[in-house]
Amino acid sequence: MSDAAPTVTPVSDEPYEIRTSARRTRTMSAFREGGRVVVVMPARLSARQRAEAAGPLVERFLAQEENRRPPRADRALQDRASELFDQYVWPHVEGARPEFGVRWVSNMERRWGSCTPGTGEIRVSDRLRAMPAWVVDHVLVHELAHLVERHHTARFRRIEGGYPQSERAQGFLDGWDAALHAEEDRPAGADGGDL
Ligand SMILES: [Zn+2]
Repeated sequence: MSDAAPTVTPVSDEPYEIRTSARRTRTMSAFREGGRVVVVMPARLSARQRAEAAGPLVERFLAQEENRRPPRADRALQDRASELFDQYVWPHVEGARPEFGVRWVSNMERRWGSCTPGTGEIRVSDRLRAMPAWVVDHVLVHELAHLVERHHTARFRRIEGGYPQSERAQGFLDGWDAALHAEEDRPAGADGGDL
């Protein structure tokens, strides 16, 4: 946080940086740069005026960002899941094509994905956003396979194994987990038997 705004605490804990611009006379704006929120304000404003204006501006920016981001990201995820379903799962299905919805979630600390076959709801941990696309695809195929096979049966493994990168991706995720939780006790069954 900038020293210029010591008295302002935004509603969120998002840190931000205030920059001043001599060229700007009226307009203030907020944007994200390298993961950090930056507020640009006219240099003519006093430090106190800047501090007063920054908090609400940051809040507004974060609210807009929040409104913009998830639907777009989820739509891309949903589209990719539909492609993967058609390619790898659909050939194994007899009967109607199941409906499903896929979304990113931020509250999945241990698992990579989950599926509720009854509702067709699939959730994917947003920790995967940092990983290669073929790893995300593997998690999607795994969860999509649960739509038609609840348990990790031989049939399930056949469906999942149809995705060529499946084994490699699982190795990638296992290695990631092992590195991350090397010093923690991991109770058996903590993952509910899922990925
Ligand atoms: Zn599973």
